[in-house]
Formats: sequence, structure tokens, C-alpha cells
Amino acid sequence: MSRHDIDIAVIGAGVIGAGCAWQLAKAGLRVALIDRVHPAAGSSGACDGYLSVSTKTPGVAMTLAAASRALYPQWIAALGDLDAETKGGMLVLDQPSQVAAMEAHAAALASVGVHTELLDIAAARRLEPALSPALTGAVLCPDESQLNPYKLALRCAEAAAAAGALTLWPAEPVVEDLGADHVRLRLPAQDLTLHARQVVLCGGAASAALGQTFGLTLPVIPRQGVLAVTRRQHALASRFLVAARYLTHKLDPDRASTSTDPLERIGHGFTLESLPTGQHIIGSSRRFVGFDRSAPADVVGLILREAVRYVPALADSAVLRVFAGLRPFVPDKRPFLGRSRTSPAVIVATGHEGDGITLTPITAACVTALATGQTPPVDITTLDPDRFGCQP
Ligand SMILES: Cc1cc2nc3c(=O)[nH]c(=O)nc-3n(C[C@H](O)[C@H](O)[C@H](O)COP(=O)(O)OP(=O)(O)OC[C@H]3O[C@@H](n4cnc5c(N)ncnc54)[C@H](O)[C@@H]3O)c2cc1C
Repeated sequence: MSRHDIDIAVIGAGVIGAGCAWQLAKAGLRVALIDRVHPAAGSSGACDGYLSVSTKTPGVAMTLAAASRALYPQWIAALGDLDAETKGGMLVLDQPSQVAAMEAHAAALASVGVHTELLDIAAARRLEPALSPALTGAVLCPDESQLNPYKLALRCAEAAAAAGALTLWPAEPVVEDLGADHVRLRLPAQDLTLHARQVVLCGGAASAALGQTFGLTLPVIPRQGVLAVTRRQHALASRFLVAARYLTHKLDPDRASTSTDPLERIGHGFTLESLPTGQHIIGSSRRFVGFDRSAPADVVGLILREAVRYVPALADSAVLRVFAGLRPFVPDKRPFLGRSRTSPAVIVATGHEGDGITLTPITAACVTALATGQTPPVDITTLDPDRFGCQP
């Protein structure tokens, strides 16, 4: 078994781990990026690529998203080839009763410097003619962007390697020793032992089991989301469209178990992303079904039916494929981001649920600051990885 000495091991090569590995290597640390499958094998390879502040809850999520968005232009310039576009977004209202909530949401967005405009349905349809006239209106969010999340994970992993990081997959590390200032990981498939000073846990939806091997209690639960992809066609929307209901279903997971409404039971929130390829990605659901990545026909049917209600012309679109991703959900709806106080060699960066693509740059900036003894650029005290306690 060969031995490799490094400063920091990053476990998990989704957007979060790959982004952290790139920034850590760029900061001059000797890094190993490890994944048990390959980069983007998890949620990062099965999701939309909306870089959005408008879909975040007021508070730490919105603050983090605004800070992350400010970092994205540098990332896009450095990584290239991400299909990145700043086309803007719309939160679409389908009931007049949503207007007051959206006005309050717009005020919260304004407090973090995000400009929005509330439009009635006639004004919304002048910008997005494919929206149904039966809808109520929209909140226009001109500064929102989108990119290809799969490419983001791959480009970050490549950039990490180019900056000197060791990239290892498929590799599932075994913890051989964990002290306050060191960690020893055995990679049986590579016949390699890594001696590191620190480790970053970025296991996405599988983070509960990963945390356990480091003695951490990380109650990350997979929250499945189904997406449908159409064939190439003329673009039905210039912007990323999201139902205002998306926010309700995202933030109230209990609704799915208490409601009798089939859409609420699958945690439905309509989304429509038009890709540069001419394809459209239609979403989505939020369900707790363990690690099941199948996309059941009844869920797909509800998602497509609702999509046609928002954008009637989708009725003529051909669906090419459907797939499901597993969002890393934390019961208190906040990611884990910080250094463990009980295991100080361990930094945790996971649990970003439906926001991980948006939050990648700020997460990587915080992890890099923690790993190099600096103060993180935003206050992350409420994201403490020990907040659910630790194992005996
Ligand atoms: C339908 C859907 C739509 C979404 N849309 C958006 C969006 O528009 N915008 C947005 O910001 N976010 C969106 N998200 C959320 C986003 O996909 C996730 O928040 C993000 O991908 C999480 O990234 P991650 O790196 O933490 O996890 P993952 O991408 O899941 O990566 C974790 C990696 O860790 C590896 N791993 C796990 N355990 C181990 C182990 N023991 N050893 C080695 N490797 C391990 C896995 O193989 C995996 O590659 C969406 C999610 C879904 C499902």
C-alpha cells in the first residue's frame, strides 16, 4: 500500500466537493478529491442549473445566495464552457391570493440588493408569450442566471487537477485514524493511504452515512426531484420560469404528508428551463423516497400536466427522457457548513437541498477560508455541523 501526504482530502465530487477542491488547490494546499463513483454522479448530474436568489428563503439562505451570485462571474470566466447565460427568471403566480406573499418576498429580496418587478399576467405575457393567460402574474427577476451543472462539476474537478489536486475515483475511503489535527484514509481500490491534516465532507444526499464514519451526526435525507427533458424545439421561454408555489412546497415538507391534493403530496413546484440546445427541462417534485432514483409514471404525469397548465404550448412538445435526482435535505432547512468542534480536523459542506448549484462558489470560499485559518466571507455560525449533536 503506497502512502501519500496531503494537506486536505475532499470527499465527494459533486459541484460542492469539486468546487471546494479547486479553490483549495488554487490557495496552494495539497488536495485530494475523492468520489466513490465519479464527478457529478449524484444530485449535481441530475438537476437544473438555475443560479437563483429569488427562490431562497429570507435569512441565511438568501444572504448566501446573493453572496454566491456575486462570485459567479469570476468562476464562469475562469472555468469557461459552462453554457452560462444571464437570461433572468420569473416567479409565476397562478392565484391572486399569492400576490401579498410575493410582495413580501420581493421586499426581502430588495433587502439583499436583488431587484424584482411584480407584473400582472398581461405584462408577464408580453415578456413570456407562452405563459397561459389564465395565470395571475409574475415576479420578474432580471439578474438570475443558469448554467449546466454537470459541466460545472466536471470543470471544477479538471481545474482542481490542473492546480495540482490528486483526483481519485471510483474510491470509497475508509477512516483509519482521526485526530484533532490529522486524518488517515485508506483507499482499498487504489491501494493507497492518504495522510492529511484536514478533510472536507461533501457527500451530498449520502452525507449521513459519510458523517457517521467520522463520528458526526449529519441528518441529511435524500429528497427526490423528477425532471423531464423535451426534444429540441423553438424556445418556449426566454427566462427560467418557476411557480410561486415552488417556494411553498420547498419550505413546507410536512404539507406532502398532510395534504390530500395530489400535487401537494408530491411536493410539486413547476419549473421550466430552456437550454441552449433547444431542449426544455420541466420540473419538478419533492418527495422522501429514500435513495430511489426511479421516476414513477404517476409523478411524471402530474408534473407534465401542470407544466401544460402554466405553458400550454408544452402540450405539443415531445418528452425525450425523465430522470430523478436526490437533493441533500436537512430537517432544519439549512446546509451544514463549518468546522466540527468535536472533530476539528473535519470540515463539513453539505445539505444544500435544492440550492447547491447556486451556493457552490460561496461554499467553496467559506471552506477555503476555514482550511487556511481565515474568517469565512459570510457569517456561517447557524450552519454549524455539530448542531444535531455528535455520536458517543
Ligand atoms: C430535480 C432537481 C433540481 C435542482 N435544481 C437546482 C437548481 O436549479 N439550482 C440549484 O442551485 N440547485 C438545484 N438542485 C440542487 C442541487 O442539485 C444540489 O444541491 C447539489 O447538486 C448538491 O451538490 P453536492 O456536491 O452537495 O452533492 P452531489 O452532487 O450529490 O455529490 C455528492 C458526491 O459525493 C459522492 N459520495 C457520497 N458518499 C461518498 C463516500 N462515502 N465516498 C466517496 N464519495 C462519496 C457521491 O458519489 C457524489 O458524487 C436541484 C436538485 C434536483 C434533484
